[in-house]
Amino acid sequence: MNINYENVQKSLNEYGKYVLNCIKKENGSSLSQEQLQTLDRLLSTDFIVVEQPNKKDIEFFSNQAGITDPKEFSVEYVPSAHGGRTKGDNKIHIYPYTKAFSDCKTENELLNDCVDNIVTHEIFHYFIRPNLYDEEGTIREEFGHFLTEGLVQHYAETFSQNHNLPTPKSNYDRNVAFVKELLAGLPDNLSKEQVDRIVFSYNQNDLLSASKNGKQLYDRFVEDIQFKNDVSSFIISIGENLGMDRNDKKLAGIISHYKKATDKKIVIADLQRNVEVLFKEDKETKDKLMKDLDEIVPSKENKDKRIDNLDKKFKKVDTPKKLVLKPQKKEKQNKKFKAISKQKNPINSKFKIINKTQQNDIGLENAHDMQIDSASLDYSQSGPTLSK
Ligand SMILES: [Zn+2]
Repeated sequence: MNINYENVQKSLNEYGKYVLNCIKKENGSSLSQEQLQTLDRLLSTDFIVVEQPNKKDIEFFSNQAGITDPKEFSVEYVPSAHGGRTKGDNKIHIYPYTKAFSDCKTENELLNDCVDNIVTHEIFHYFIRPNLYDEEGTIREEFGHFLTEGLVQHYAETFSQNHNLPTPKSNYDRNVAFVKELLAGLPDNLSKEQVDRIVFSYNQNDLLSASKNGKQLYDRFVEDIQFKNDVSSFIISIGENLGMDRNDKKLAGIISHYKKATDKKIVIADLQRNVEVLFKEDKETKDKLMKDLDEIVPSKENKDKRIDNLDKKFKKVDTPKKLVLKPQKKEKQNKKFKAISKQKNPINSKFKIINKTQQNDIGLENAHDMQIDSASLDYSQSGPTLSK
């Protein structure tokens, strides 16, 4: 597709200004003085940048994804779009050449995709920021992203409904469901204007305490995150026991797949099956892994302990549980791994169940934000079909 980037940028800025004027008219009374100033400032500039393919962005986003080796820099790390904080210039950036837009056949389709799914969502990010002051690497930060995307997407969807526009697509269905429950728990006597003011100005703590559902919803969120982190660590353990590098891309793909599952029992059962097959001939490792897997099932006791420790730092992907093999054993594992690789790729052939659906999971269809973390990943309602 031939894209006239200048045209696209001009049209999107015009549309963006229309959205801003609507927000000013419809939500102006719920915005702070400062927010109104932000809005007016945006109206006086071209605040949407439509990017052409360039090396600098590929490097920038590869770096953000933790890739430091220039040989591994790739356009796949460039998001479809992001808001003003990613590059620190307070502008919305859109990358029409990325995979997310590959379905667009004409410039018009591209424009429609941006108008329907990106612009309104990104604009609400300017006014809904409940997580600004949180420390990096904490559950609170992760929750802040999760909550922000939920609120932003919820407001973008409501805006579209009120203006007879198509519902914006996103990977935030679960975030939106969470937010709807949270807002439903606000006192009944609040006007829409008051609810909007809460959404536009409260931080996450105040939002949680304002809603009678806040605590319960938050506890559920923490439990889910902890489970996902445990599963990630466990998959890394499996990989390392097979002689793989913990940063292997295949492992990342498998982790991403499991992070989307909502049914914990299915996840555990599926991992058990895989351990059973992969370590059939290594009883010691198999037993050890099975034991670790048992501990992942959230017990009441673990859960309470975790909730007490909320504000302590934790790594997004914990180091694997103690599965460090003795040197001679590791050697044996590696040999075994190599032996299997010679015949066929062990991961591809044995992680069969996983690989069947894995391809869809690595590229997020509508990941319009940079903060692609487990909190903002799509959680399909029924979970992936892991079993046949
Ligand atoms: Zn967003």
